[in-house]
Amino acid sequence: MSLPAIHYNTYTQEIKHPKPWQLDEHGEPNVNEFVISDPCYYIKDSDWGDFCDVWNAATKGQGYGSNIVKWKGFDLVIQSTGGDGSWSYTGLGHKDWHCGGTTHCADTASICCIPFALCDTNPLEDYVGKGIIGHTDYGMKDYPEITCEGAYTGVGEPFAIDGIVQDGYTLCCGNYVDDDQFEWCDSGSCEGCWSCFDCDCEGDGQ
Ligand SMILES: [Zn+2]
Ligand SMILES: [Zn+2]
Repeated sequence: MSLPAIHYNTYTQEIKHPKPWQLDEHGEPNVNEFVISDPCYYIKDSDWGDFCDVWNAATKGQGYGSNIVKWKGFDLVIQSTGGDGSWSYTGLGHKDWHCGGTTHCADTASICCIPFALCDTNPLEDYVGKGIIGHTDYGMKDYPEITCEGAYTGVGEPFAIDGIVQDGYTLCCGNYVDDDQFEWCDSGSCEGCWSCFDCDCEGDGQ
């Protein structure tokens, strides 16, 4: 019987004392499950101070935006959200890695793919609507990519997970525009964003 391949390419050290829920059916650490969330909801409380020190150092060295934070053998990609908020994605059902959850939120203005192995609790058991749960056999480098699709100015920026832009934004004139900011004319037949809206049905009808 051959064991499934465990992808150690992202490990620089092994996790010494995995919790039972971190083991797969062969007793090996399962590093393939992850939750997309603000790390503050899932990193152990007892580790949080040290984690922030490493994270801050990475931010200083790499600049603002997307940072690689080396933590307990993982290269975590922590993406700044610019501000706190919540994001939802109804299109994730089409992704074969998606196991549960369609929303994430941020209290430290950040979002990250966090392996279950780093979580304080089992996200599946303690799931309270914070995060998107997935599973991949491809290893950390192929975890879903989270990208800012806006001008990166702060709260309300649209984000995409593997290219799926969060709900409520539509691409118009080369930018993702909040659906609330589309305009319609009185007849309802012309629509556009603030940049392109133009009613050309003036004089029609009444
Ligand atoms: Zn437009
Ligand atoms: Zn019109």
